Amino acid sequence: MIDRSVSRRAFLQTLTLSTAAGVVALPRARADEPAKLDPKDPAALALGYVEIASQADAKKFPVYVKGSNCDNCLQLQGKAGNDFRPCSLFPGKLVAVNGWCAGWTAEM
Ligand code: SF4
Repeated sequence: MIDRSVSRRAFLQTLTLSTAAGVVALPRARADEPAKLDPKDPAALALGYVEIASQADAKKFPVYVKGSNCDNCLQLQGKAGNDFRPCSLFPGKLVAVNGWCAGWTAEM
């Protein structure tokens, strides 16, 4: 005869360990993703970075050109289709494709 209490206990222990491992693994996978650039970061402030290009301070940054944004900037990297992508001016951070900063360089 099968001892069902042992089998059930073993199953529940395995399930608990699997669930715990899954919970631990999920944050680690997200932790590998670069953080979004904080517009209040000193480097971002220095270049007038904003997440919405139309909110750029054109008085403080007269280099702003209407219609310019991260999505049409030469410095933007990564795959098209993502709302936040790497930028060569802010290594290790993601910038908004709808954003802008004074480092904007027209695509060729
Ligand atoms: S350099 Fe270009 S892609 Fe990077 S934050 Fe400035 S405008 Fe956006």
